[in-house]
Amino acid sequence: MRLVVRILKIFGLLLAALIVTLGILLAVSFSGGLPIRDGQRVGGVEVVKDSIVSAFIVDLDEHRVALVDAGNDRQAKPILAALSRRGLGPDAVKAILLTHGDRDHTAGVLAFPQAEVMALAPDVALAEGRAARGIFRWFHTPKPNGIKVTRALRDGETITLGDLPVRVFAVPGHTVGSAAFLARSVLFMGDSAEATKEGRLAPGKRLFADDPAQNRASLRALAARLQPAAADVKAIACAHSGVLTRGLAPLAEFAAKPE
Ligand SMILES: [Zn+2]
Repeated sequence: MRLVVRILKIFGLLLAALIVTLGILLAVSFSGGLPIRDGQRVGGVEVVKDSIVSAFIVDLDEHRVALVDAGNDRQAKPILAALSRRGLGPDAVKAILLTHGDRDHTAGVLAFPQAEVMALAPDVALAEGRAARGIFRWFHTPKPNGIKVTRALRDGETITLGDLPVRVFAVPGHTVGSAAFLARSVLFMGDSAEATKEGRLAPGKRLFADDPAQNRASLRALAARLQPAAADVKAIACAHSGVLTRGLAPLAEFAAKPE
């Protein structure tokens, strides 16, 4: 009996140590970046802060919008609040562009039943809950979450939402199906990159990336692909940090650094 109690105590201590370590890792991971400014407007794009992550409202016309990611809140309360300040309801959201399939970016999707849901093909299963990845595999087993990706996107295509063209880029590394989108002169990077307090662009956190080296290579490739259209990029928006408003420069500067 005493042995059982001792084993349980040791197990409890190990579990506590694991939880504390994970807490510290998370705290370190989400600090140090440029803070997210809730309600910030960049052209036709509005930042919505949802705890540790942002979603973005992209204007289509007076009555319709698209979202880039759907936030961490299952009821999408922060996004719905931002919409209601414009006199809009959930049905105003016509499309949701997912930068990738992680739960902190997809949780709010079901709050917008009228929206077409789009993600790059390799992340569809992750977005729908049918797959798990990386360190998250330790914590949960895949189970369909009710989300249906209605349109699988391809690298290099330009889709049209209402009258708005959106360029789609594959930037694998954080996840296999991570995407960047260029819409309304804002380059949305999801978790593939983050903005530093100094106004620079850094790759997304290694800890959470499926393949950090591939992530960095993807950022370099994206910089090269966007260089001819550099004038079209006014801002870079990362999901867990604030918006950089120096055009394509932060991405080009990252790409120009030696490996
Ligand atoms: Zn994330």
